[in-house]
Amino acid sequence: MPEPQSEIQHFAKNWQQQLADAFNNIEDLCRYLHLSPDDLPVSVAATENFPLRVPLSFASCIEKGNPHDPLLRQVLPVDEELFAYPGFSNDPVGDLASATQSGVLHKYHGRVLLINTGSCAINCRYCFRRNFPYSELQLSKQKEEAAIQTLQDDASISEVILSGGDPLLLSDSRLTKLILQLDSIKHLKRIRIHSRLPIVLPARITKELICTLSRSPKQIIIIVHCNHANELNERVIAACNSLKNSGITLFNQSVLLKGVNDNAEVLGDLSEQLFCHGIIPYYLHLLDKATGTGHFEVSEAKALTLIRQIQATLPGYLVPKLVKEQAGAGSKQTIL
Ligand SMILES: *Cc1c(COP(=O)(O)O)cnc(C)c1O
Ligand code: SF4
Repeated sequence: MPEPQSEIQHFAKNWQQQLADAFNNIEDLCRYLHLSPDDLPVSVAATENFPLRVPLSFASCIEKGNPHDPLLRQVLPVDEELFAYPGFSNDPVGDLASATQSGVLHKYHGRVLLINTGSCAINCRYCFRRNFPYSELQLSKQKEEAAIQTLQDDASISEVILSGGDPLLLSDSRLTKLILQLDSIKHLKRIRIHSRLPIVLPARITKELICTLSRSPKQIIIIVHCNHANELNERVIAACNSLKNSGITLFNQSVLLKGVNDNAEVLGDLSEQLFCHGIIPYYLHLLDKATGTGHFEVSEAKALTLIRQIQATLPGYLVPKLVKEQAGAGSKQTIL
């Protein structure tokens, strides 16, 4: 159990060590949060295929002693994950199985998504990737070379999206090499990185990383993933500031989650706080219906009501687009 003194020591470590120290079992996390696992609907069985994983930086934003904390709900393995909800399946988006073969997803015009790594610093219980063996979600060196060739050969591609898993878990040397290769592709205009690390492991935003990113002649966009304003602690804010100050454009995507952010006040506050720290609200996703995530579902009707409520009080640029992913569609589907 990290005491305040050891928390200071923890946050002085480098990101790899902080990641290695992440909570990986229910007991340790509950002890740190002053909660008893016996009083919670926790499930060890739910961790068998998808372990608990929570970096201390994220855990430190959870209110101690609150079993209903919205951040805790995102990471605590519970009984409901084992319930069968109708309409929920292992590959709700319908493309992950094929994408694991090549590590490349080219579904939308002009944009190619690379699955650079299967792993994440945090295991979000609502994630649609939870049912895929992480090791199969890797872009191996060979696949990466083939992917770069694909990008080079297709002049209609103007943007490459590094995704995963979490692409910022790649080492600085691999990222630097990859970005240098992308830099040499003339028709590419933008490199976009989808990462939850600035939010859950802000130590990852090192000077070296910022150097690598700001050296690129391409426009760099980072889309972070934050679901609740409580996730924005002082380390997160500092990391986002340094990204922003080096000329990187920051957007946020959230998932609409029951018991986490299915409330107009929470969503409005999230938008306000994000923007306050230089991050523009981009998407609010309806949950992908993956097995084990049924208890997070918010109906489309409720989602629309929520969006209308925040639209009535916030400037337009603080209202994220409500979207869902539909198998076979040429873009994300905006819900109006
Ligand atoms: C979401 C997604 C994108 C990016 O879509 P935008 O609407 O541009 O944010 C690109 N490719 C794939 C496969 C995606 O799932
Ligand atoms: S960070 Fe993203 S990809 Fe990783 S577990 Fe969470 S939701 Fe899934």
